[in-house]
Amino acid sequence: MTVTVAIVGSGPAGFYTAQALLDRGDGYAIDIIDLQPAPFGLIRFGVAPDHQATKNVMRKFHQTALRDQVSFFGNVEVGRDVSVDELRDAYDAVVLAIGASDERGLNIPGGGLPGVYPSQAFAGWYNAQPQYRDLDPLLDHQAIAVIGNGNVAIDVARVLVKNENEMASSDLPEHVAAAIASSPLCDVYVFGRRGPNQAKFTNVELREMGRLEQCVSLVDPAQLPDEASGHDERDLRLKKKNLDTLRGFAGALPGSKPKRVHFQFYAMPVEVLGEARVEGLRLERTQVIEGRAQGTGETFEIACGAVVAAIGYRARAIEGAPFDDHRGVVSNTDGRVGDGLYAVGWIMRGPSGVISTNKKDGVLVAGHIEADIGGGGKPGRSGLEGLLRDRGVRAVSYDDWQAIEAAEIANATPPAPRRKFTTTDEMLAVLD
Ligand code: NAP
Repeated sequence: MTVTVAIVGSGPAGFYTAQALLDRGDGYAIDIIDLQPAPFGLIRFGVAPDHQATKNVMRKFHQTALRDQVSFFGNVEVGRDVSVDELRDAYDAVVLAIGASDERGLNIPGGGLPGVYPSQAFAGWYNAQPQYRDLDPLLDHQAIAVIGNGNVAIDVARVLVKNENEMASSDLPEHVAAAIASSPLCDVYVFGRRGPNQAKFTNVELREMGRLEQCVSLVDPAQLPDEASGHDERDLRLKKKNLDTLRGFAGALPGSKPKRVHFQFYAMPVEVLGEARVEGLRLERTQVIEGRAQGTGETFEIACGAVVAAIGYRARAIEGAPFDDHRGVVSNTDGRVGDGLYAVGWIMRGPSGVISTNKKDGVLVAGHIEADIGGGGKPGRSGLEGLLRDRGVRAVSYDDWQAIEAAEIANATPPAPRRKFTTTDEMLAVLD
């Protein structure tokens, strides 16, 4: 008997789970549900527009989506159009793969001023995520501060300083490209509250910052430790590479190119300055003691017109699934949440790792489903279709999505791979 599975979320965790189920045989009917009309989650809306090679994994997911046992239901929001409980009634297994879409919150005075943006919103803006289409960030100052030492901080900094030529083969939306091109921005400060040995940048991303056409990356050599340290062999190798890269930045000349990215370590934001909007940022110098950033009491300020908090993501609780507020994940034991309910990816283990990290989550939970679900027997797709029909929800099928995608490709100016639609209405209009 066929086992019916609903996967909520069509990002890497969702698609890797679908693949892992298909690898176990033909006995599964899998429906992948997403609130966006477009599939692939963070591959489309998170991976930076100039890192198209990273998006190549979409081709694999595309093959999965074309399999007979798999259907896509885009433009369907679980929690609004249909509940988790209703899905559990309709399907033998429900897998939550909804990622971590909330900000972690920069809880400092001034953190709510106009001009402070969580990276989710900022990256959503330059990645054409419909809900951030009109973010229109304040880029009218020569300086901006990016808080955090992870890859998202680097993405934000890089997208802001690359020139038109470097972005030609990206899918940066036109209105975003225009906003960046007309901005006087020339200094991007990337602040880490700890040191280079604790920074979470991967080396490929950091190295790229030393090869930009119009921008030089800088670091104060006094902030670089003599030796790299890491929590294991692999981490140590990464930190050595990063330290070498940063040493290269330390020798760069600030005036050699028109734009600069300043990597500043041991600097913890304590207040966003400004009356009606961001005018600057006050930071406290830190020391790293037993791995933790401790303030020294010494503060300094920079003038800037906006602040992007790239300080990590947090999952949002969803009704019908227990939530561990402390860890910011759905309460689960190795992906098992409840009877026939599972979690994979960031909603299961928190927002860390790279795209392929989600693969083992999918394999793990596919194994649980095979072990836990006996004969199946719940209606699955027909049950969901009935609910959506009754509620007048316009679901976007995978065929529909392919029509939307074809229009995005046709609208692009080569070498750009696609010209993304930036609103849901524009996408749906293709189907009318
Ligand atoms: P992340 O790697 O967890 O980095 C978050 C950074 O924010 C850390 O440096 C952290 O410092 C800092 N931070 C947290 N709270 C802070 C606070 N209150 N004040 C100051 N700093 C604070 O998160 P991310 O950059 O959002 O990336 C999320 C995941 O996506 C990561 O696994 C990342 O590798 C992945 N990603 C990968 C790529 C890529 O491969 N190209 C691109 C983008 C994202 P502490 O370390 O001191 O806590």
